[in-house]
Amino acid sequence: MDDSSGLKPKELEFTLAAVSQFSSSSLSSSSSSSSSVIARFSADSGVAELRFHRDSEFIDGFNVDIGTSQLFKLGPVQSLCVSEISGAGKEKSYSRAVTIQFRNEDESRDFHSAFEQWQKDVIQGIHLPNGAIAASKSKFDYKIEPSSAKMYFHYYGQLLHQQNMLQDYVRTGTYYAAVIENRVDFTGRVVVDVGAGSGILSLFAAQAGAKHVYAVEASEMAEYARKLIAGNPALAQRITVIKGKVEEVELAEKADILISEPMGTLLVNERMLESYIIARDRFLVPNAKMFPSIGRIHMAPFSDEYLFVEIKLQALFWQQQNYYGVDLTPLYGSAFQGYFSQPVVDAFDPRLLVSPPLCHVIDFNEIKEEDLFEIDIPLKFIASVGTRVHGLACWFDVLFNGSAVQRWLTTAPGAPTTHWYQIRCVLSQPIYVMAGQEITGRLHMIAHNAQSYTMYLSLSAKMWGPGAVQGGILQTASGKLDLKEPYYRMSQPQSYTMAQDQQPQQLLQAQAIPIHTEDLDEAELLQQPSENTGPQLQ
Ligand code: SAH
Repeated sequence: MDDSSGLKPKELEFTLAAVSQFSSSSLSSSSSSSSSVIARFSADSGVAELRFHRDSEFIDGFNVDIGTSQLFKLGPVQSLCVSEISGAGKEKSYSRAVTIQFRNEDESRDFHSAFEQWQKDVIQGIHLPNGAIAASKSKFDYKIEPSSAKMYFHYYGQLLHQQNMLQDYVRTGTYYAAVIENRVDFTGRVVVDVGAGSGILSLFAAQAGAKHVYAVEASEMAEYARKLIAGNPALAQRITVIKGKVEEVELAEKADILISEPMGTLLVNERMLESYIIARDRFLVPNAKMFPSIGRIHMAPFSDEYLFVEIKLQALFWQQQNYYGVDLTPLYGSAFQGYFSQPVVDAFDPRLLVSPPLCHVIDFNEIKEEDLFEIDIPLKFIASVGTRVHGLACWFDVLFNGSAVQRWLTTAPGAPTTHWYQIRCVLSQPIYVMAGQEITGRLHMIAHNAQSYTMYLSLSAKMWGPGAVQGGILQTASGKLDLKEPYYRMSQPQSYTMAQDQQPQQLLQAQAIPIHTEDLDEAELLQQPSENTGPQLQ
């Protein structure tokens, strides 16, 4: 943890070349300065602020609340500081931006590190240099829009949604097996259940002999968990339910094991992995165990003409020129874009994959919370067949690296279906490939404050066939999707039921081709996920 006393006085004041304000409501830019300006980091009011002065005069209306602002680099000597400002009463919050011009690159860099340091201190609630305590909000509150958090915890506060997860027997059965078969890791140990929900994983940990389990749950489900746990008296005395966010609650002791089910669609949706990582840093003793300890996102290009046409057809409604006498076509383009911005959630036939998948490994023991703010994955595949590629199919798995038994919980196509299904990002423009041809691209995901990610996907392959310039032109298709707004397609009849001897077995093995490799001790475990995908209780 960084110590705020590391803020040296010289870092608290910066001379700038200029500062100007950009107002989003008026869409006008007003410059405040021709002479140089001083930017001062201050906590005088008990709030960490950045204030601007010119000729010792405080420039009114330019002060920035560091805790609710973000600083972006526009160029080597120019940055933009964007602040979220809550309006009074029922007014919505809005953003205000200040453009900062530095005198040189060194000063720009120093300013950015000072800003980051102050922001960290505010978020961690560390005493600022003048003795003030600048934070009352937690890391969660700073990142997540209150309306999103409210809906999220309301959802998980309902028993029907917990039941939906409990009835995913692949999921719950794999957790049960991973815990019970690894009693050795639980017996006599202190456990924290991160996002305990109904309390099921806490009860499993207690069954496996845990000395004590702290079940932390932020939603109203905490009350039901208390009730459920009290109804199992043989285990109840070793479980304490704590209602609150893992970012905020305090525990009486450090723990030896973290157990959690923080996975959303595509592993990272809901941004709960970040809470899992924060809980790791807050509650665990060194060298403690995490259940699960590794997550992997798997990706492969797919070809699905039916899905592509289905999505295109949804937008066709807006092609009508006489809808009760109204021409709907002005909105066709937006509707078309809107449909293609939804990741499709369903269980698909793995034979639709055009190449063996690659995977991106996230090591929960090592990763930093900030590493999940932006996930950038370079893509490179070799097409196994000549076809039209319609987009990228994705799924994930997680590893329980127990001392006795290692288990993978997989959501791969062809494996027993889970409530996560798989997701497919469909591009509005297919690309044509030949067998053996290279497909390259990028999946770039940026976290947003509604507990999900904006996804930027691009796929490219060289042109082929008559007329294509030899060795030359690329066909590229790209799209922007919101992981928060999926298109649930499970109501469609599924044409596919897997026979045990089919291709997915080969595909699962092909998952061992990582392009994002990390030095993991468990490297050899990554080779064989298909061998221990949990009890098939369905
Ligand atoms: N562990 C349960 C529930 C998993 S769903 C099971 O496996 O069945 C995830 C749960 O985590 C939800 O109940 C949600 O309310 C809770 N949760 C999510 N983020 C949290 C946070 N930051 N602090 C505490 N609980 C959280």
